[in-house]
Amino acid sequence: MFIAHLPAGYLLSKGVVAMEHLRHLSEQTKRRLIVAGMVGAISPDIDLLYFYLIDHRQHGHHSYWTHLPVFWVIAILIWIALLWRRSRTWVWLGIVFGLSALGHMVLDSTAGGIRWLYPLSMQYFRLAHIHAGQSWWVMNFVLHWTVLLEIVIVASAGMMYLRSKRAGCAVRTDQQ
Ligand SMILES: [Zn+2]
Repeated sequence: MFIAHLPAGYLLSKGVVAMEHLRHLSEQTKRRLIVAGMVGAISPDIDLLYFYLIDHRQHGHHSYWTHLPVFWVIAILIWIALLWRRSRTWVWLGIVFGLSALGHMVLDSTAGGIRWLYPLSMQYFRLAHIHAGQSWWVMNFVLHWTVLLEIVIVASAGMMYLRSKRAGCAVRTDQQ
């Protein structure tokens, strides 16, 4: 997955803040949750820095702990345990961040492969294999059917953003 992670995080966090349970939150808190979701959605790929600068492309970056679902599940649980009694807002910020990171794993499972059963199994699970046929590796992904999924996610997030913006304008106009 290339371009869909950020918009997928936006869609996921918009879904979370729309939950009945969180309707009472202030607009500012909801905006923070959406930002947390978007940052969380791209956070696993921070390992690309390690991949290029330190590991010198010796191992696929999906083999690092940042791309292990078990890491994010444990991180979310620890976060909840530490902050539950202190701040529900921070608890939700962590949950949305972590869920978006797990969403990243789901999207990376389309073609890249994710070790969903680690540490029980080292097997990578993926929906489709990308065959290396193009001289520039990026084109192997661009010409694969999974790119359609990316386009749908980007378009959905774009429509959701425009709808939210229009709804916000309508509320402001009513208040004037
Ligand atoms: Zn990734």
